[in-house]
Amino acid sequence: MIDFSIPSDTAALRDEIRSFVIDEIVPFETDPRLTQHGPTDELRSELVELARKRGLLTFQAPARFGGREPSHLDQAVLYEAAGWSTLGPIALNCAAPDEGNMYLLGKVATEEQAEEYLRPVIDGRQRSVFAMTEPFGAGSDPGQLATTAVFDGENYTITGTKWLITGATGAKTWIIMADVQANPHGPAGPTLFLCDGDHPGIVIERVMNTMDRNYVEGHGVVALEGVVLPPAAVLGEVGQALRYAQLRLAPARLTHCMRWLGAAERAHSIAVDYARTRTAFGKPIGEHQGVSFMLADNEIALQQSRLAIWWACWHLDQGAKGRHESSMVKAVVSEDLFQVADRCVQILGGMGISDETPVAMIFRDIRAFRLYDGPTEVHKYAIGRQALRGRGA
Ligand SMILES: Cc1cc2nc3c(=O)[nH]c(=O)nc-3n(C[C@H](O)[C@H](O)[C@H](O)COP(=O)(O)OP(=O)(O)OC[C@H]3O[C@@H](n4cnc5c(N)ncnc54)[C@H](O)[C@@H]3O)c2cc1C
Repeated sequence: MIDFSIPSDTAALRDEIRSFVIDEIVPFETDPRLTQHGPTDELRSELVELARKRGLLTFQAPARFGGREPSHLDQAVLYEAAGWSTLGPIALNCAAPDEGNMYLLGKVATEEQAEEYLRPVIDGRQRSVFAMTEPFGAGSDPGQLATTAVFDGENYTITGTKWLITGATGAKTWIIMADVQANPHGPAGPTLFLCDGDHPGIVIERVMNTMDRNYVEGHGVVALEGVVLPPAAVLGEVGQALRYAQLRLAPARLTHCMRWLGAAERAHSIAVDYARTRTAFGKPIGEHQGVSFMLADNEIALQQSRLAIWWACWHLDQGAKGRHESSMVKAVVSEDLFQVADRCVQILGGMGISDETPVAMIFRDIRAFRLYDGPTEVHKYAIGRQALRGRGA
């Protein structure tokens, strides 16, 4: 039986996170260090120290690294609270891409790799990247991976171009996906490599100007100009990158949904306040049916999104891989939350497209969410194929 009751310790932690985000983090939303290329590393470090002082930093980390290791369902409650401010997850160190990378490294890295590359990220002193997407190669279809890794029996030499690489500037822990070419020394195929961002051959060409604004240091274009790495740099097994990417993505898609649910709720609460106090044609605008229907649609979409997320989390907590469920949830929640944010902009009138409130910023960021961790069409393509095979959920 599915049981969605929230344990009392989870509810207490949720309340603590919520008051931390509202009291200590929201004031930073107008900080000039929140730039077009996202929060700067300096702003991030300041926020992380606030969470550390409150004992809330990286609360989701595995217990063996000192975290509270909440279940997926508990995470849904906690990340939603963190997402009330787009800076909340950054302060708490449960934002993308670090959160998904920590999850993956916690599952696949060796003890030595975890000490060198995972522990400093959990500690909030180091950031990480996941470098898969390429301008003309891997994207919606990671099978088009064009970055190569040539193994000469001693070292791998990686060559290619990546883009949209979140947080590339200044990150130390790098996970790079490259296609190991057929060779006489061992296995081949798409593989994940772990290395330091300062490693020779990693060249950050530029940071892209994008419409979103809430990923630390934005999204980079990166040239991999003959990055030489030893076999010890392989994360997991050679040829298994696509499997590991799925292992990372199923929960990572859901945590995105959870954080953006919190942000959409915030936008809705601002729209509700405005609809209550702003008057037009003799009464508060919220009492005009056109606006009250928009508010009702928001209420319904927020609650449906929450329940969809909890449903997929419940599956993961039962030990399922949850790939199909997380795909369905990501597709519906990213579209519905975008509609919520759009309605909030509409209710706020001209102010809605300005930075007088955080709603415009949330709208732009939620728009991007419909693309990453699988565009909606790609999820629907996978779900449709399952239906044709007669294995619909
Ligand atoms: C804010 C943001 C952050 C990101 N961060 C990272 C990162 O840190 N690391 C990283 O590696 N990547 C990152 N990405 C890249 C992201 O993973 C890709 O944008 C995504 O996988 C889509 O690939 P693409 O952009 O190449 O689009 P394309 O593959 O060119 O697809 C374009 C469009 O084609 C359509 N399409 C594709 N396949 C199908 C299909 N089967 N059926 C119907 N329609 C289809 C979809 O509408 C899709 O939007 C980020 C992207 C964004 C927006």
